[in-house]
Amino acid sequence: MFRLRGVLLPDGVETELFVDHGVLVDGPLPGAETLLDGGWIVPGLVDAHCHIGLGQGGGPVELDEADVQARTDRDAGALLIRDCGSPVDTSPLQARDDLPEIIRAGRHVARPKRYIPGIALDLDDPALLPDVVAEQAAAGDGWVKLVGDWIDRGVGDLAPLWPDDVLVEAVGAAHAAGARVTAHVFGTDALPGLIRAGIDCIEHGTGLTDDLIAEMAGRGTALVPTLINVENFPGIADQASRYPAYAGHMRRLYDGAYDTVRRAVEAGVPVYAGTDAGGGIDHGRLADEVIALHRAGLSAADALGAASWAAREWLGRPGLELGARADLVVYRTDPRKDLSVLHEPALVMLRGRPVRGA
Ligand SMILES: [Zn+2]
Repeated sequence: MFRLRGVLLPDGVETELFVDHGVLVDGPLPGAETLLDGGWIVPGLVDAHCHIGLGQGGGPVELDEADVQARTDRDAGALLIRDCGSPVDTSPLQARDDLPEIIRAGRHVARPKRYIPGIALDLDDPALLPDVVAEQAAAGDGWVKLVGDWIDRGVGDLAPLWPDDVLVEAVGAAHAAGARVTAHVFGTDALPGLIRAGIDCIEHGTGLTDDLIAEMAGRGTALVPTLINVENFPGIADQASRYPAYAGHMRRLYDGAYDTVRRAVEAGVPVYAGTDAGGGIDHGRLADEVIALHRAGLSAADALGAASWAAREWLGRPGLELGARADLVVYRTDPRKDLSVLHEPALVMLRGRPVRGA
């Protein structure tokens, strides 16, 4: 039994929290150990785009390394992870009460030679997409991940993977199965077909135009910009000297990335924090993405919300309310005044147990 006192965010009200058997209960709780007296208490952070089971080289890792990845995210305060596609079945990790909750999207769905090798399910015939999406919806935890665009070496530039009519059917199949769909998209051309098919979220979205942003805002389509991963675009361009149009395209998308997020936020597109850890990004870097979102135009409170209470609501998970699991992070200073404190949580509590600090 634990007691914590601090300023509860997002409301900003000084509060006493009591934890018993892993959940928040009504106080006072006689005999409860005071873990922390003073600080800023935030609902468990959310990494809305993460890959548990994907190694630095791009391929699958063993389950014990996936376990280390999940613990690294946890110790940075990320207690809920939307895994945006993994070549490894990480469902055994979901049974572990010392690891963050993982919402799995199953395997990435792509076409041959149209994604990082060795990760995705590659469909020779794009018409198979609706059936494969239905399978992945059944295999995952309510999300399906498509690769929406990738370099087409025949074209020498980013190009869509899927015909529009197939996308309508595929998104419909996922929704019929109770799952949501998201897609990796760097450029612009793949976006209209995905958004008009009713996709639920766009990952990266560096090619968004004002018209497409307005359409997303109208439909409530979410955006997870993964700004710290967009930092890799110039390096991708440097390695693509054989495809100058593609390399130039990637550099332009990189140059416009922060402005794109700013325009999306101003238009009212729901934006959430995702690191894209597991490919070219280390695990445990959620604080960096929150700071990047703030730089892109979200207020500090909204940038934090995009990695906490707002993202939890979007993913159907509770905040810090009575009866909810005690998944929370505490900071010594007000993160709304200086987000750099996110790098040093004073306490990370998962399912009512301190896993860092205290
Ligand atoms: Zn990713």
